[in-house]
Amino acid sequence: MARKRSLVIVGNGMATCRFLDEFVARDAQEMYDITVVGDEPAGAYNRVMLGKVLKGAEPDAVITKPRAWYAERGIRLVAPARADRIDVAERRVVLNDAEALHYDIAILATGSQPIMPGIDGVHNDSGEPKEGVFVYRTINDCLSIRQYARPGDNAVVLGGGLLGLEAAKALSDRGLHVTVIHLGHGLMNTQLDFVGGEMLRRQMERCGMFVRVGRTLERVLGDERVQGVVLNDGEHLAADLVVMACGIRPRVDVARNSKIPINKGILVNDTLATQVPGIYAIGECTEHAGVTYGLVAPAWEQATVLAGLLTGAQPQARYRGSKLYARLKVAGVEVASFGVLEPTLDTDRAIQVIEERDFAYRKLILRGRQLIGAMFVGQVGSAASLVQTFDRGDPLPEDPLEALCNIVAGGADSRERTICNCFKVSEATIVACVKEGADSVEAVTEQTRACSGCGSCKTDVARLVQLNAKEKLAASA
Ligand SMILES: Cc1cc2nc3c(=O)[nH]c(=O)nc-3n(C[C@H](O)[C@H](O)[C@H](O)COP(=O)(O)OP(=O)(O)OC[C@H]3O[C@@H](n4cnc5c(N)ncnc54)[C@H](O)[C@@H]3O)c2cc1C
Repeated sequence: MARKRSLVIVGNGMATCRFLDEFVARDAQEMYDITVVGDEPAGAYNRVMLGKVLKGAEPDAVITKPRAWYAERGIRLVAPARADRIDVAERRVVLNDAEALHYDIAILATGSQPIMPGIDGVHNDSGEPKEGVFVYRTINDCLSIRQYARPGDNAVVLGGGLLGLEAAKALSDRGLHVTVIHLGHGLMNTQLDFVGGEMLRRQMERCGMFVRVGRTLERVLGDERVQGVVLNDGEHLAADLVVMACGIRPRVDVARNSKIPINKGILVNDTLATQVPGIYAIGECTEHAGVTYGLVAPAWEQATVLAGLLTGAQPQARYRGSKLYARLKVAGVEVASFGVLEPTLDTDRAIQVIEERDFAYRKLILRGRQLIGAMFVGQVGSAASLVQTFDRGDPLPEDPLEALCNIVAGGADSRERTICNCFKVSEATIVACVKEGADSVEAVTEQTRACSGCGSCKTDVARLVQLNAKEKLAASA
């Protein structure tokens, strides 16, 4: 029998979690002794669902791989433990307690870290974030915020992107008075144009939060702990806590300490290899073809390619970059976006449907009959088919509004569309599953894994379950 090689993975987040699933499914334990080093105390968890923990759920609600999962599969989990560097010459991953783990192959999956802006008053005299200043990235961050925040407190969230809005909604649901401060002119301006951001702002305000756009924090007040903030237009706001949600940057410290080439992220090629033989990288810590990513789908695509390569199951697999399709539930509001946000040529056209009363918004950007971008706020029913039209470069109907309004599932074409983007589950698979007896979203999830990634396809799956369970009932009556 061939000698087993040792594989050490640094980081036990969402990229590693998917890598292990794909790796184990290809019988990797017969080829490798696998060790995972994670600096968070628990097993792997679904970071995308952290809002639940911030709202009050127990951490178990988001843990996807408890410690027993590793033990049962013969995988060694070293956690909590931080890797400091890789001794490339000796092929050892060196931990901060000086333990060193030999590797034949090492994978860096160290994710990102929140950016802590250098705003006056954010830090105390010892250079630590002042009491009441938080970031929102880990289970521990959520537990710390929960412990500190009391109903009726004033919370300021800096950043009106996905994370800021999620944090704001969770704090508002815990009974705090919440104000979101966002420097851009519209919320979520990476995914939405101004009108889309505006619709989202109104939805947030309807839920009881306050939003100030085009503004930022100039100073955090209070000697020992947060006692207020001053905005850049001089306005003072009462604040007991401030959540910083103003962006992330790849965690490259281990790579830097090991002289593995980095730019914004750890540089990888199409095989996810770094420039140092035997060392690979996946997830938000990487930079591929000049791009770093901040969503889970690219991390999972990279994990799948690398598992295929390292087991020899798909030796030709290559990662060519990810097309970004953001389908998110932001503070309870469904948002989807892909491609460009605005027409880029004089001849491009934009079609917008604005539902003032519901603060819902849909927009298509067309080049001839080609779809080059789209966004949806509140009304995302047609997003799943349109993203496929976009991916395949199919022409839109003569009247593009027909495509925008094609919300109800059904029809030969729609069966091919991907409903769960995280696990690539098609409408046809879900319909077949329901027809064979799965009569709830949970039952479909158990069989197909749909909804168990970012969870944003839950509404679509629920609609398919309802529609097809009814059809099945009618047929058997
Ligand atoms: C609150 C929140 C909501 C989100 N919502 C969405 C969403 O709706 N949709 C979406 O697509 N994406 C969302 N994301 C982004 C998504 O979570 C990330 O894209 C994904 O987690 C990236 O996976 P990763 O493995 O690269 O990084 P991570 O999941 O961050 O995992 C990296 C792990 O490595 C550990 N680590 C780092 N350095 C070391 C070291 N030296 N030694 C040991 N361990 C180390 C880190 O502590 C961490 O546990 C959200 C993120 C957050 C924080």
